[in-house]
Amino acid sequence: MDISGKNFIGYSLSSENKHTFKSYVPAQNIELPEEFHTATQEEVSRTMKLAKDAFNEYSRVPASKRADFLIAITEEILAVGDELLERAHLETGLPLARLQGERARTINQLTQFAELIREGSWVEASVDTAIPDRLPAPKSDLRKMLIPIGPVIVFGSSNFPFAYSVAGVDTGPALAAGNPVVIKAHAAHPGVSDLTAQAIVKAAQRTGMPDGVFSMLYDDGYEVGAALVKHPASKAVGFTGSIKGGMALYKMAQERDEPISVFAEMGSVNPIVILPEYLENNTQELAKTLAGSVTLGAGQFCTNPGLVFVIKSESLHAFEASYKNEILKVAPATMLTAGIKKNFYKLRDELVAETGVSELAFSNIASDAENQSQASVASVSGKDFIANPKIHEEVFGPFSLLVVCESYEELLSAVSQLRGQLTASLMAEAQETLKYPALVQTLSQICGRFIMNGVPTGVEVCPSMHHGGPFPSSTDARFTSVGRHSILRFVRPQSYQDWDDSLLPDELKNANPLGIFRLVNNETTKRKI
Ligand code: NAP
Repeated sequence: MDISGKNFIGYSLSSENKHTFKSYVPAQNIELPEEFHTATQEEVSRTMKLAKDAFNEYSRVPASKRADFLIAITEEILAVGDELLERAHLETGLPLARLQGERARTINQLTQFAELIREGSWVEASVDTAIPDRLPAPKSDLRKMLIPIGPVIVFGSSNFPFAYSVAGVDTGPALAAGNPVVIKAHAAHPGVSDLTAQAIVKAAQRTGMPDGVFSMLYDDGYEVGAALVKHPASKAVGFTGSIKGGMALYKMAQERDEPISVFAEMGSVNPIVILPEYLENNTQELAKTLAGSVTLGAGQFCTNPGLVFVIKSESLHAFEASYKNEILKVAPATMLTAGIKKNFYKLRDELVAETGVSELAFSNIASDAENQSQASVASVSGKDFIANPKIHEEVFGPFSLLVVCESYEELLSAVSQLRGQLTASLMAEAQETLKYPALVQTLSQICGRFIMNGVPTGVEVCPSMHHGGPFPSSTDARFTSVGRHSILRFVRPQSYQDWDDSLLPDELKNANPLGIFRLVNNETTKRKI
């Protein structure tokens, strides 16, 4: 499949702008030949008008047809074949095996949404039938369900070219719910974005979706993204990336005449707290597991464990020695972009230079490839950690800071300083957990996913996964960006009062023609009324 390099405005390709950019192979520091046309403001307007018009039609497409569309997307993505994986490998430097797994995850995500909307109960239909003879006043017939909101703007992340990008965790639920999607393609993987967009457009045409149900625009700067967020036809934003980027878009969205929600997942340091008995009983395995988690995917995960808290104990020395050995064994890996690599070393070096921080291990294995990161861990006392908020923040890459506390009280005080996190892990024996309820409560209050005796890397796609957390890990802790409940970001409830049964949506009709679960007069049931 040829890469178009053009903006996808619904079913049309457009390249009005003379300004183009090229994609880049981070492992070799070279450019690829294809040129990608940055969208003009006129192209942004055309895209949003089309998306707005498409919403009128797409929001009324039956769920079974929308599900067919999602499944067609999975088929078209797979039909692109190895070319898609190879392009992703070139543009991101991520290993092919990892990318194969990520593509499978993306297919799985889309399939789960197809199944969810085919079943249909996700709309949370509820019916309260009328009581005309109620005194002192009659009660109306009220029925409620979730409905789509309108065009959703999606900013994919650099570190997941499939699962959090063009056909990823925002696109799947937004389309499933009945909203058109407009993508701002990530400038770090425009070629893989182009191939994925072609697959989505083919799927949309094959399943008879309205023109404008999907669009994708390019930019190697911020103008197009900003224009999309500010456009009056945009109704919500899905974003995965940096705190700086997420908050810039959040502010723009709040300053609009009609403010809209920005669901930004902005990563975190994912603290791990290891209590002494657990450390003593698992010293070697812990060192190995932690080193593996810190360096997985060159540390370029929002769930990377950036802070590890321990209390001084006899086992600590042995743990530090094993941890150091494990880190020194880790081979260098290509980072996603030259900018991310530069930022990694800058932030790491600045952090290691802070008062009281000392380097524990810095793997320095030679490599011929470009933009390599070497794994590294440092350590600091609990006292110095508490005194210096600068070292509480994320260093995106294979780095983690060990915070060594004098006592349980110091550890609790250090952990209490942390801001909102996607995850927190407690590594403790059962009796230790019972002994420290304040620690359990403190960690619970700052995280979206609370892990017992495990590392945070690895995000299962299932209904019970919550991938989001208190600010700044995400802009709205009530919502997940992974799993079926992520669809709730792109819908709103609507009540119908005293409507004739024949005019109601199928989900709310007396006969319950879709056979979905509903809350009827406070009872969850599939029965007819
Ligand atoms: P990013 O810089 O936040 O960019 C994400 C997307 O948002 C890109 O499409 C980018 O445009 C756009 N964008 C960023 N700032 C913007 C602004 N002010 N106005 C309009 N659009 C804006 O994230 P990234 O490129 O993926 O990685 C950079 C850093 O983000 C990493 O070093 C890391 O700290 C963090 N990160 C976090 C996660 C996470 O899981 N939360 C994932 C990846 C990265 P361009 O394409 O033109 O740059």
